[in-house]
Amino acid sequence: MSKPVLVVGSGPAGLSAAHALASAGQEVVLVEKEDRLGGAPILSGYAKLVPSGEWAKDAIGGMVKRVEDNPLITTHLNSVVDTFDGEAGAFVAKLKDGTSIDAGATILATGFTHFDSVNKPEWGFGTYEDVVTTTQVEQMISSGQGVRCPSDGRKPDRVAILLCVGSRDRQIGREWCSKICCTVSANLAMEIREELPDTNVYIYYMDIRTFGLYEGQYYWASQEEYKVKYIKARIAEVTSDGKRLIVKGEDTLVKRPIMIPFDMVVHAIGMDPNVDNMTLSAVFGVDLEKYGFLAKASSYASMSGTSREGVFVAGAATGPETIDDSIAQGQSAALSALALSRGAKVEAAE
Ligand SMILES: Cc1cc2nc3c(=O)[nH]c(=O)nc-3n(C[C@H](O)[C@H](O)[C@H](O)COP(=O)(O)OP(=O)(O)OC[C@H]3O[C@@H](n4cnc5c(N)ncnc54)[C@H](O)[C@@H]3O)c2cc1C
Ligand code: SF4
Repeated sequence: MSKPVLVVGSGPAGLSAAHALASAGQEVVLVEKEDRLGGAPILSGYAKLVPSGEWAKDAIGGMVKRVEDNPLITTHLNSVVDTFDGEAGAFVAKLKDGTSIDAGATILATGFTHFDSVNKPEWGFGTYEDVVTTTQVEQMISSGQGVRCPSDGRKPDRVAILLCVGSRDRQIGREWCSKICCTVSANLAMEIREELPDTNVYIYYMDIRTFGLYEGQYYWASQEEYKVKYIKARIAEVTSDGKRLIVKGEDTLVKRPIMIPFDMVVHAIGMDPNVDNMTLSAVFGVDLEKYGFLAKASSYASMSGTSREGVFVAGAATGPETIDDSIAQGQSAALSALALSRGAKVEAAE
C-alpha cells in the first residue's frame, strides 16, 4: 500500500485533488487551517458562481460533501503543517497539534487572500459605510438579505462598481490582473438589476477582460439585456456630499472630468498572494515568484511542480485563477502525486 498524499488547503483546488486521488484508491490526508472545508467560495459566502450560475453553497458544498463522505480521506480542520521533512516518496509532516503524517507526496492548494480595500483609501472604503466590496455584495445576495445600503438599509437607486481594485495597480505594488473580477462584476451587476429593476448600475473600467466565451454571456448580456452602463474612466477619489457618494475621475474616452453621485459604491477586489506564503515557503522549502505567489515549475513537462521534488501546487496559490482552472489543476496535481506515491518517477521542477 502506498503512503498517503498530503493535501494542504480545501478550496476548489484541494477538494478536487483529494477527490481525484481517493477515486483512484489513494489514501489522502487533507489539512485545512479554517474550521470548514470549501475555501474562498464558502468562507466568503459567494452567491451565484460564474460561469455555471449555481449557488456557491450548492456547487462547492457538493464538492465538500463528497470529500467528507469518502473513507479514504482523513481531514484535519483548524490545522496547519508546522514542519515538513524528508524527500519525495518519504515525507514526514508534523501538524500544529503534534500529529505526525507520513506522505509520499504533497499538494499545496492554499489559495489566495482577498485584497483588503483599506489599502486603497482614496476610493472611500473604511471611510464611508456605503462603499463595500464585491464579496460583501455577494454575501448580501447569498444570505437572502438582498442588496441594501449598509448605512440605513435602503435600496440603492444608483450603484457604481469600480473594477481593478487591488489589481493592475503599480502604485500599490499589484501589477497582476485578477482574471475573473470583470466577469464576476458583470454577473453581479445583472443580479442587482434582477433584484432591483429600478436601480441604475454603472461599471467603471480601464479595460474589460471578460475573456473567452464570457464576452457574450456577461459583457454584452449585461449591457443589452440588463441595461448596465459601462464608463471607461480613471478614478481619482470617492467622496461624499453629505447625502450621496460622489465618484470623481476622468472619462478617458472623451477626456473630460466626471463627478457622478451614487448610493452605493462597490470595489471589485482582486486576489492577493496568500498571507501565509512566506511561512509555507519556509516550511515546505518551495520558492515564491516575484509577487509572492507560490512559484510553479516553468516546464510543460511538470505543470503542477514546484521547486521541490514531490511537492506539487494547484489553484490560486500560484496566482489568480478561476474555479474551473483551480479544479482542473487540482486533478492534474493529483495525477502527478499519485504517480509519485506509487513509485513512478515524476519529472522534478527545473
Ligand atoms: C470576489 C470574488 C468572486 C469570485 N467569484 C468567482 C466565480 O464566480 N467563479 C470563478 O470561477 N471564480 C471566482 N472567484 C475566484 C475563486 O475564488 C478562486 O478561483 C478559487 O477560490 C480558487 O480556489 P483555490 O482552492 O485555489 O483557493 P481558495 O479558495 O483560496 O482555498 C484555499 C484554502 O486553503 C486554506 N489555507 C490557506 N492557507 C493555509 C495553510 N497555511 N494551511 C492550511 N490551509 C490553508 C484556506 O483556508 C482555504 O480553505 C472569485 C474571486 C473573488 C475575489
Ligand atoms: S479581471 Fe478585470 S477587474 Fe479584474 S483585474 Fe483584470 S481587468 Fe481588472
